Amino acid sequence: MYDLHVVGAGPAGSFAAITALREGKKVLLSEEHKQVGVPAHCSGLVSASGLRQLKDVVDYRRITLNTITRANLHGKRERMTLSFPYPKAYVIDRAGFDRLAAEKYENEGGKIEKGSRISELGDFRSHVIVGADGPISTIARLFSFPKISSYASSWQGDYAYSSPDLSAVEVFFDQSWAPGFIGWVIPANEEEAKIGLGVTKKGDLPRAKKKFLEHLHLAKKKPHSQFSALIPLSVRKKTGGVFGNHHVVLAGDSAGQVKASSGGGIFFGASCGRLAGQLAGEPDEYERAWRHAYGTDLSMHHLLRSTLDVLPMWGLDAWLMAMQRTRLDQWLMAAGEMDQYSKMLSPKTLLTYAKTWLPVE
Ligand SMILES: Cc1cc2nc3c(=O)[nH]c(=O)nc-3n(C[C@H](O)[C@H](O)[C@H](O)COP(=O)(O)OP(=O)(O)OC[C@H]3O[C@@H](n4cnc5c(N)ncnc54)[C@H](O)[C@@H]3O)c2cc1C
Repeated sequence: MYDLHVVGAGPAGSFAAITALREGKKVLLSEEHKQVGVPAHCSGLVSASGLRQLKDVVDYRRITLNTITRANLHGKRERMTLSFPYPKAYVIDRAGFDRLAAEKYENEGGKIEKGSRISELGDFRSHVIVGADGPISTIARLFSFPKISSYASSWQGDYAYSSPDLSAVEVFFDQSWAPGFIGWVIPANEEEAKIGLGVTKKGDLPRAKKKFLEHLHLAKKKPHSQFSALIPLSVRKKTGGVFGNHHVVLAGDSAGQVKASSGGGIFFGASCGRLAGQLAGEPDEYERAWRHAYGTDLSMHHLLRSTLDVLPMWGLDAWLMAMQRTRLDQWLMAAGEMDQYSKMLSPKTLLTYAKTWLPVE
């Protein structure tokens, strides 16, 4: 028997496993696929600040495809550009991220079983379990955790596409292209971009995708590769519990620890994974710890998503215009955070907003 059995070698699972290992525990990490990270279901856009916080496990410089310093946010007709004088985010090779994290864990002495799918209670090799098995979690189902209340059905293709600005990501809020979520163009290099969208009603996906690709003049082009996947848009009401003699916690997508505003989940998944690795034996402590560290941020992303959802079509343009008229765009460029929105509420950062109203010398 092991001290801890971690299910799923994505960011949440590998970070949980390596954290527990570094604390001296005997850990087993199970991954259903024969190769960690493959197939990749992700665009790989991660904030520079987030990647720096994960650097003790994954050196992102080894897997960086592109550096992002700009975001163009598109409404119906309006557009707002946020430009940064430094790298704000990186496009990383997502399969590479998962592979490096798992390799680091193995190199430090961790045991991983690849091609090993956990599907029933008899498969567990410890009474302490981290379910880091993605958005449709078997572990959550086996222990009857409360359901994730909403998902975005998403699709992404890798296209031959020369972005006019290689350092900019394009985010589309127009609800006729991405009802309930967003569309995106993320340049990976001079010749290729990751182009995708999500919708909240699965049946809307084919029509939304068609309209979005027509807008980008890509309707007749075939992607090199493509996939569809679910993105959790809400956190489970409970993410840890004791069930008979099993102590179980959920981390990452399986817990719904994803930014509901954009679907980004690598930073929060890996960060909550670390806490899961430390506290899996004490599920209540884990629940308290991750909600204390990241709950406010995830709630703020959820609030932004809920606000966008209720805006009427013209409201998106009005929202983008209002952001610029009230100089919130300047504030975001000076002090904006991609993941940890709560950091923007510090007095120092709020003072930065006041400064945007000072006359320019
Ligand atoms: C279209 C799309 C684009 C995205 N783009 C971004 C982005 O740009 N930036 C970002 O930060 N996030 C992005 N995300 C979200 C991000 O991919 C997830 O939040 C992240 O992968 C969550 O990590 P995880 O470890 O919780 O789960 P996963 O990465 O899903 O890992 C779960 C692992 O568990 C394994 N597994 C599942 N079931 C079992 C089982 N029963 N037994 C054993 N193994 C099992 C799976 O094979 C997998 O390896 C995107 C998601 C989608 C769908």
